[in-house]
Order: sequence, then C-alpha cells, then structure tokens
Amino acid sequence: MNITWNQSVRNSIKSADVANRQLHTECFSEGKFPIKIPLEFADKIEVGNPLDPLLLQVLPSTSQAQDGFSDSPLEDEKFSPIQGLIHKYTSRVLLIASRVCAIHCQYCFRQNFDYEEHDILSNWQEIEQYLEANLGVNEVILSGGDPLTLSDGKIEKIVKSVEGIEHIKILRIHSRTAVVVPSRITDKLSEILSRTRLKVVMVFHINHPREISADFINQVKKLQSLTLLNQSVLLKGVNDNASILAALSHKLFASSIMPYYLHLLDKVSGAEHFLLSDEKAKDIYRELQKSLSGYLLPKLVRDEGGESKSLVIPLQN
Ligand code: SF4
Repeated sequence: MNITWNQSVRNSIKSADVANRQLHTECFSEGKFPIKIPLEFADKIEVGNPLDPLLLQVLPSTSQAQDGFSDSPLEDEKFSPIQGLIHKYTSRVLLIASRVCAIHCQYCFRQNFDYEEHDILSNWQEIEQYLEANLGVNEVILSGGDPLTLSDGKIEKIVKSVEGIEHIKILRIHSRTAVVVPSRITDKLSEILSRTRLKVVMVFHINHPREISADFINQVKKLQSLTLLNQSVLLKGVNDNASILAALSHKLFASSIMPYYLHLLDKVSGAEHFLLSDEKAKDIYRELQKSLSGYLLPKLVRDEGGESKSLVIPLQN
C-alpha cells in the first residue's frame, strides 16, 4: 500500500525505545531535542554500525557543555521586527513558514527556537503589510522548521500572496523534508512552484551522499524548472572528509542540483561533538578544492552577525 508523505512524517520514529528496536542498537536515549526519524531515512542507516554518518545526525547528544555554545547561537529573535519574519539582510526576508520538521537533526541551530512566537500563518496580514511596505526587499525565503511540512494548499496560498507583491521577484525555499521523505515532491507542489511568476530557488539540505536515494533522484526531476541548490553542514564524524564531500557534489550535480554552501557548525548547545577546529575545516576544504571543478565546489561559510560569511581559503601547493 502506498502511503502519502504526511502519513510518512506522522509514522516517524519518535522515541529512543523505538529507535533502538528498529535500528537494532542500544545507542539511543532521550535527549534535549526530541528524536524524530522518518522511516525512509532510518532505512538508509547501516544496521549494527554505531558510527554510521546518517545515524549520528539523528542521535541525541551526550556532549559535555563547552564555552562558546549557547541555546540561540544566531540570535534570530534580535532580527524579528514582527512575528514570523526575520529581516537580517537588506534585500531579503526570511519567513518561519512552519514549526515542524520531518526529521530532527541533532546539530540544528534552531532546535531551541520559540516557534509559538513565530507563526506566519496566524499573522499573515501583518507579514503581507510588512513586505508591501519594504520596497527594497526582492526575495522571500521560506524556512522553518521546514516549509515543505505544510500542505500543498497552504504553500499555494503563500505563493499566490507573495506573487501579488510586485517588487518581490524571488521565492527561495529551504527544505530537508524533500530529501528525507522524497514523496513530499508531489505533482501538485511541482505545478504550484513551476507556474508562479516568481523565480523559485529550492535549497535542499543534504550532508552526505548516502542521503540521496534513487527515489529522491526520481522525484526531484519534477522540479527541474526551478533553480536547485544544496547546502550542507560540515559535521565531525559525518562528512569531515574531502572524498565524501566530493562524492556528494558529484551526486548532486547528476541530479542538476548545484552545491551552494558548506556551513561551519553553528555553536548550539548539544552539538559540541560535531565541532571541527577551523584549521581542520580549512584542511578538508583545501583537499576538496583540489579534487573538484570550481562549479562543483560549495562555498565554505560561517554564519556571523546575521550574514553567511565566506571563508577565503587560498589553495596550497
Ligand atoms: S530539518 Fe532543518 S530546521 Fe529541521 S531540525 Fe533539521 S536542520 Fe533543523
């Protein structure tokens, strides 16, 4: 029996007991950020391998607290003039389109974000007025949570509303759901995003080549009329290796997705064990520069003071 994408999200693994049973392990215990693993993602985890790079991303932390880590490393709230809207950059605003994610990534910098205070759908009129009044804004970014956990109907409403504001030209959607539950890329979603007058940019969040399944490759063909990009987070134990990152870039490119950003970890409490030193990160990146053509090389960036700042790494001979 075929199940829909939202049934799939509802059926996710949500407790340590179930995770241990289904993945034949004993390494899960309940942590600060609740467990949520869609079955499609769980199926890709290598049973019996406690160091599996997919498993490590969803395994609650047993990290010791470390200086420099906090509950809100990017201080999003400081840049929020109205509920549900974050305005850090001159030309673009970010909307917290959904409180929900299809997966809980244990390194997530928004794991402590107060979503109750930032719900755009209950505050849409005010958001629309803000966008209309800010003529310098030409791009709206849907983030979350994950905007693709909203129904197609709700996404259509948001798209129609944004396209009614003349000076908005670009709609960017950040999503991990499309990768971890590929059935989310429905025909209806593809139709909504292909038909709008807005230039739509879909930014996937994929960290490891094994996350890209045959099913995803097939489904993403429905989005080929959009601009498709990917961002990854550089995570110790997961993808801290130039050959893994190079394989990811090649696999993305084969699906017409361009590698865009490689983020250094945001220092959120509970993610201490994923941190790489700057020196190690730069060494990995230099290796990657040597093995990839420039167009396959994501930019190495660190989020600072509301901006993604590119780290310039000179090539070493
Ligand atoms: S899908 Fe994105 S927002 Fe959701 S937990 Fe993962 S990193 Fe955080």
